[in-house]
Amino acid sequence: MAATRTFSIIKPDATRRNLTGAVTKMLEDAGLRVVASKRIQMTREQAEGFYAVHKERPFFGELVDFMISGPVVVQVLEGEDAVARNRKVMGATNPADADEGTIRKTYAESIEANSVHGSDSEENAKTEIAFFFDEDEIVG
Ligand code: ATP
Ligand code: MG
Repeated sequence: MAATRTFSIIKPDATRRNLTGAVTKMLEDAGLRVVASKRIQMTREQAEGFYAVHKERPFFGELVDFMISGPVVVQVLEGEDAVARNRKVMGATNPADADEGTIRKTYAESIEANSVHGSDSEENAKTEIAFFFDEDEIVG
């Protein structure tokens, strides 16, 4: 199967604990290649826009507050079946339910402060990549 792309965020709970490298190593060990990466402080508007699909969920306000509570690292990952591959190494949303050896089982603090985001479909990956990156910032 040809290489595809997905979008990843190393969330503020992980950057705060200096885990950018440790999380990235788990992504790389899972067969994903970082083809774009930048450390940014998201604005409230960016976080609200990015998580707009969750607008009606009861945790939306807290989620936005959390995502702007510190820097994040936004990344484009490339690999065979990248979306599913990334979701597998991330583990379940709630770290209590995540499999051993996954990023969330290893590092997440809670269902909210769960260390990483990953696109859940190829279509959403394209939208999310375009939200943060110009095509000339992605170098495979
Ligand atoms: P992500 O989209 O960040 O990769 P996900 O797809 O596993 O995570 P979603 O259901 O899309 O999970 O939820 C988005 C994010 O909202 C979660 O990663 C988590 O940070 C937060 N979240 C989800 N459910 C809850 C909850 N019940 N309480 C608090 N925060 C939550
Ligand atoms: Mg999601």
